[in-house]
Amino acid sequence: PPLHRQRHQFVIDFVKRNKPKKVVDLGCSECSLLKKLKFHREIELLVGVDINGTKVKKKMHGLAPLSTDYLQPSYDQLRIELYQGSVTQRDARLKGFDLVTSIELIEHLTVADVEHFSEVVFGYMVPATVIISTPNSEFNPLLPGLAGFRHSDHKFEWTRAEFRSWAVKVCLEFGYEVEFTGVGQAPPGQQETVGFCSQIGVFCRLGGRSGCNMLLGDDAEDVFSHTLLYSI
Ligand code: SAM
Repeated sequence: PPLHRQRHQFVIDFVKRNKPKKVVDLGCSECSLLKKLKFHREIELLVGVDINGTKVKKKMHGLAPLSTDYLQPSYDQLRIELYQGSVTQRDARLKGFDLVTSIELIEHLTVADVEHFSEVVFGYMVPATVIISTPNSEFNPLLPGLAGFRHSDHKFEWTRAEFRSWAVKVCLEFGYEVEFTGVGQAPPGQQETVGFCSQIGVFCRLGGRSGCNMLLGDDAEDVFSHTLLYSI
């Protein structure tokens, strides 16, 4: 299957195994991952955030319940909210989730904004788990006809070592552990040397929920910087 589907399937498989109740997809774009996640009945709150409200609005009505959903006794347990906002800004409505996904988002941020992103996601939202995917630049020589970055809006594309060094720093600073994997296999024999086409870090908060609540209590005031676009 195409790479974007493999990335989403990675998230779906994680959701099937870990059964998070509250999930937020950062950089949700046209809500294609959210559309797949809404069929996972353990999820009670599904949120999407993107800086580009026009993209979000384009297909968001496809998230409304289907008539067949009403035949499911559990359909009314799911709430979906979509926000226009930047992942570099704090919003109290995004605190304390079970899972945050950030699929092919960070490479669109300037290096300074990646710092803000780390602080907002790991330091302020403090989710139990985070899945981050980003291009692996070591794979680029295998992509035919590619000169420069994979997309003109990318601000950087990291090697495995660069991604690892950012991720490990985040873990030490905010109390997480990370495992590295990816999707998009290299041809046989080259997997070791170049790695996956998309590299993925799966972060888990150390100390689980209790550590999370302590941090949450530290904030004197709630901030709401995002704009609600859709709620159902
Ligand atoms: N996550 C989606 C997927 O897996 O198909 C789409 C990723 S798309 C390559 C990157 C998205 O990030 C775009 O929709 C863009 O508008 C959004 N984005 C870029 N900078 C952002 C920011 N600072 N805050 C929120 N979203 C941002």
